Amino acid sequence: MLEFRDKTTTEALIKKIRKISTESNIKIMHVCGTHEMTIARWGLRGLLPKNIKLICGPGCPVCVTSASEIDFAIKLVKEKDVILTTFGDMFRVPGTGSSLSEAKSQGADVRVIYGIDEAAIIATKTEKQVVHFSIGFETTVPSIASEILGSKTLKNFSIICSHRLIPPAMDYLLSSEDIEIDGFICPGHVSTIIGYEPYEVLAEKFAKPMVVGGFEPADILLSILMILKQIKAERPEVENEYKRAVKKEGNILAKKMMNDVFETCDKGWRGIGIIPNSGLRLKDEFTELDGEKKFKVEIRKSQDLRLGCKCGEIMKGKAIPQDCRYFGKACTPESPVGACIVSAEGPCYIAYSYS
Ligand code: SF4
Repeated sequence: MLEFRDKTTTEALIKKIRKISTESNIKIMHVCGTHEMTIARWGLRGLLPKNIKLICGPGCPVCVTSASEIDFAIKLVKEKDVILTTFGDMFRVPGTGSSLSEAKSQGADVRVIYGIDEAAIIATKTEKQVVHFSIGFETTVPSIASEILGSKTLKNFSIICSHRLIPPAMDYLLSSEDIEIDGFICPGHVSTIIGYEPYEVLAEKFAKPMVVGGFEPADILLSILMILKQIKAERPEVENEYKRAVKKEGNILAKKMMNDVFETCDKGWRGIGIIPNSGLRLKDEFTELDGEKKFKVEIRKSQDLRLGCKCGEIMKGKAIPQDCRYFGKACTPESPVGACIVSAEGPCYIAYSYS
């Protein structure tokens, strides 16, 4: 990968970007926490002409998990005799009033795991009900689907299904009149699964350039250059910069497994609102593994954002972390007020780490 960090290569790309760049303002959105990490870590924003703005979209699965889902998980593990498993990033994200970490400190059986297979193993060794709080975009869904297919006989295992899909979110953002986007860097990881066919519909519908980008500095710069070339040529289409990992059709086996287990549903994205067909739920034949149907838990009205938290605006590309009055003061990774500063993929966490 060293050639993608090579100084001569990146300098040449920056020169080309400067040369092709016109006076008009261009806003390029990405929807991937790892892209944001590369951009911040290598200081790419500072190398671009001032009229080219790289903006974040909802690319962090932890950040977009709604408070109501977290509230449900907290209430479930506190009120019912269950073991709740989740990934580390989800552990400290605030729901409406508290987090799973606080529930654990009060005695609830919350366990941080690295993969859903660990949750299934726990279920085979206990009489208790094990519920996995399952989050993530298309990248993580195939492994969840695989475990679901292998766990049908487990009577004490279920999931809270909080998976979300990226193309419907891009559609939603591009449809929003108050959000300006001139082009998209499409997410590399997600695209290894879904390919880039789903973006072709969007590029045509909205006449916007889209480039699937990899994760090294040269990948991002080349993606930007490809978008600028499309804009200049008035040729909006989908191009694949990340050819070494992404195929047009994606991973056919993984997609089949996803489709065998899940179906789409409308889903609320934290701080953004309900996006049609942007979520996944288990198909009827897997109802017994659906934790939200299995356990009746009433939650009060949830609140995604605390007053003044700009997570929603940041996820829509309308604000940056430094616009939030809590950033780095009342809100830090150690003491989060909002969701965007908890995960290493969260824009506020990244800005806090690299600014
Ligand atoms: S700094 Fe904290 S409160 Fe402000 S937008 Fe980021 S996560 Fe939300």
